[in-house]
Amino acid sequence: MNQALVKLYRLQNIDREILERESMIKEIPLKTKELESQFKAKKEILEEIRQRLTENKNMESGADKKLQESRLAIAKYKKQLLIVKTNKEYSALLMEISREEKKVEVLEEEIIALLDKIEGIEEEEREEKMEVEKTEKNYLEKKEKLEGSRARFLSEIGDKKIEREKAIADIDSNLLKRYEKIRYFRDGIAVVRIIGENCGGCFTTIPPQVINEAKKGDKILTCENCGRILVYIEEGKDINEG
Ligand SMILES: [Zn+2]
Repeated sequence: MNQALVKLYRLQNIDREILERESMIKEIPLKTKELESQFKAKKEILEEIRQRLTENKNMESGADKKLQESRLAIAKYKKQLLIVKTNKEYSALLMEISREEKKVEVLEEEIIALLDKIEGIEEEEREEKMEVEKTEKNYLEKKEKLEGSRARFLSEIGDKKIEREKAIADIDSNLLKRYEKIRYFRDGIAVVRIIGENCGGCFTTIPPQVINEAKKGDKILTCENCGRILVYIEEGKDINEG
């Protein structure tokens, strides 16, 4: 194959590796944010459970307060029974006592039901708390890993850029300009392999005569559709063997 083409193809491989790492770096904040929002969603669920717990505990202590009041009222009326003078007053007190006793009955049932409910919510809270802790741990661990890979990618990009400088040193400057221009307009990829009968960049069918020319490898050929430079390398082989 034409040496200029070989050099361009190698340069493209270096640029492709840089590009891959750059796009992986770009994804890191998105991944971190997704993990963070999973963690936040779990925390919100826990908050909601805790709010429900507080509401029910308040209801329970409210009912308990009313229960104490009714019990005090009953005790008070019972004392008064001993000192009233008329039957009318006596039966009025009995009616009050019976009314308060009914209240006590209702409140006691209410309190039992609330305590039951509170116990259930407390169980829910324990489980969700563990879930939140698990999600937080996962979030922090993965965040750290992602930060680690960012550092690795950056250092690899640094190495690749040094490699790139060496690679471009002996490429004809006009050809390099052409390469850079295609790369700029075609998402960073200017040189592609012919895959089967198709352009490896835009997958358009390449005419057979162009493929035959490309097999010879002595000319710079481009895809009619996307304008990328085409190289023919036998499937499963690298350019060194071609
Ligand atoms: Zn193409």
